[in-house]
Amino acid sequence: MTLSRLISWGLLGLLVLTWLPSDSRAQGGAAAPAGPQCSCKAQDKLDLEERIKKLVEADKEYDNLIKHWQQQPKTKLNESLRKAEQGKVNSAMGKINTPGATRYSGNLGGTEADCSSWISKEVPPCMRPAIEDHEKAHQARCTKNTTPGKLGFWVDLFTKGSTDWRSGQTILEYLQEEKADHQAEIAKYKAELAKMQQHCPQYTQLDRSEKYDLDQALAQRERLDQAEKRLEEYGESLS
Ligand SMILES: [Zn+2]
Repeated sequence: MTLSRLISWGLLGLLVLTWLPSDSRAQGGAAAPAGPQCSCKAQDKLDLEERIKKLVEADKEYDNLIKHWQQQPKTKLNESLRKAEQGKVNSAMGKINTPGATRYSGNLGGTEADCSSWISKEVPPCMRPAIEDHEKAHQARCTKNTTPGKLGFWVDLFTKGSTDWRSGQTILEYLQEEKADHQAEIAKYKAELAKMQQHCPQYTQLDRSEKYDLDQALAQRERLDQAEKRLEEYGESLS
């Protein structure tokens, strides 16, 4: 065997050796890659968990209020009554104060008397679909209870004495609907957290009991991932 043949066989052997581990690595698929499913980050996880806790507190307060208003089931809703009852719910939610969770300056969303709804700019993309659905539920009830068309405003004013879709409701109906909306919201956040647990381990395995700066930890992790990727690319370039 000539020296050149030995070298080419040797090279072929090397090629096979470098291919094998990379193939088995590709098939192994040890960790699920961070795909587009990971739209919610570590801060979002903390915020979603805090929001769920707040909504659970709110629901306890709704239960108290529902019990109270069941004694006067025919009392109609009006704006000052709504604000007073909602104020009690808000202070129940205010008891939950997770360190590091995002504080919002006001309501996350709302639906106006003309059925238009808004979402606060402070709501992060991860939380937005659940808040949007909550307001859509109000919008659907608003549209159902409002006379359509240009004259609708006047028709409602003269026939019902108000143009606010909520005024036709009893306080009891309002509280029951709000509670149902909250429960739908909680279910969405739980589904989002379960999705994170499954697809985004890099955002769910950090130990929050230690006083980590989460962003720092994630940035470091990303740098390591990048370095690992560069090493892999370098390795592949050899074959
Ligand atoms: Zn609502």
